[in-house]
Amino acid sequence: MTPTISKIIFVALVIGWYLIRYEYARRSRRERIVWSARGPVETALLLISLAGLGLVPLVYVATAIPRFATYSFHPLFAWPGLFFAIAALGMFHLTHRALGRNWSISLDVRENHKLVTEGIYRRVRHPMYSAFWLWAIAQALLLPNWIASFAGLAGFAVLYFGRVAREERMMLETFGDSYRAYMARTGRVFPSVL
Ligand code: SAH
Repeated sequence: MTPTISKIIFVALVIGWYLIRYEYARRSRRERIVWSARGPVETALLLISLAGLGLVPLVYVATAIPRFATYSFHPLFAWPGLFFAIAALGMFHLTHRALGRNWSISLDVRENHKLVTEGIYRRVRHPMYSAFWLWAIAQALLLPNWIASFAGLAGFAVLYFGRVAREERMMLETFGDSYRAYMARTGRVFPSVL
């Protein structure tokens, strides 16, 4: 494992995520939205997360900026980084497949929205956010630069903590007791714990 390979793994994670998402995003666009939380707050949260998980680390990979924050590379971090990156992509694949046309980049309720509670959603109610946490951990382990590596954890934390309670309120209002029962038997991003 070398610094270059480590950076290539990170770029492969970004490309892999994009390829998985692209096809599902195209399909879910056809489903009509009947309620949405889209607005300035959602846009700000999405941009902050995008900057932390994508823009900042990709600028670093391409230019080594910000140089002052560089630290020496260690394969002992990069190997588990590869493991987390593969786990993140596996989770993205499973969550997109399970959510199908119910997926949105923001918080939306679609016409004929189905509550998914099986497969990867059986014991965790936000497994796609679990996948983003895995991405952020992979990023922290793969990139030997304090800013580029931790930007993912910071950026995604803003989106996650700014959104997850509002998302659950929206789901409760839409699905009522079914979602309440689902909440009682699941964890947010980890089975029955967090
Ligand atoms: N928080 C989920 C989904 C993220 S995508 C996860 O991390 O896996 C956000 C969209 O998914 C929202 O518009 C919401 O309507 C939808 N959604 C969230 N949980 C869902 C579920 N269990 N079944 C169906 N749709 C869900």
